[in-house]
Amino acid sequence: MSIAAVPPIERILFTEEQVNERVHEVAAAISKQYEGRDLKMIGVMKGSVYFLTALTRAMTIPVKIDFLAISSFASTRNSPGMVRIAKDLDEPIEGEDVLLVEDIVDTGLTARYLLQTLAGRAPNSLGIVTMLDRTSRRLIPLPIEFRCFEIPDYFVIGCGLDYKQRYRNLRYIAVMRQGV
Ligand code: 5GP
Repeated sequence: MSIAAVPPIERILFTEEQVNERVHEVAAAISKQYEGRDLKMIGVMKGSVYFLTALTRAMTIPVKIDFLAISSFASTRNSPGMVRIAKDLDEPIEGEDVLLVEDIVDTGLTARYLLQTLAGRAPNSLGIVTMLDRTSRRLIPLPIEFRCFEIPDYFVIGCGLDYKQRYRNLRYIAVMRQGV
């Protein structure tokens, strides 16, 4: 199989500069809100790894990180399915201030499942920060404490978001070309 050298993008939605600027603003807001507390940020692999890294590097308070991985089954973008935890956290979160870090919240099914699972482990507080939020496709109301961008209903790649496991490493967020 040959891989196109040029990413299959229709247009850039947010440039690297725009992403960096918002990441720094959100990092400042989180740093302010959690000042003096012992915050743990939980990344959902693989999509949120780039965002978590950029965000925590821009934060001004000490922070702990941990990761979990999920796998979806019977799921495509237009028929969201079930998710399960494929790799669990390394450490318990009981009594801790926890922020779940997501790449994108779309229907909200994944985030709801993860928040419910984490809430069952008795953290002191639990919130969510997402790079992208697409409220137009939400199936379940979810309070989102921090977000970088609200986006329209286009499939996007870059900054951790993939198409068939590729393009996560693009430094910008782009709308994918139709019919790829
Ligand atoms: P939800 O459970 O909120 O419907 O979906 C969340 C997951 O769907 C995200 O973590 C991501 O893996 C995937 N997803 C939803 N929209 C997009 C998109 O526009 N681009 C990419 N690459 N993944 C998406």
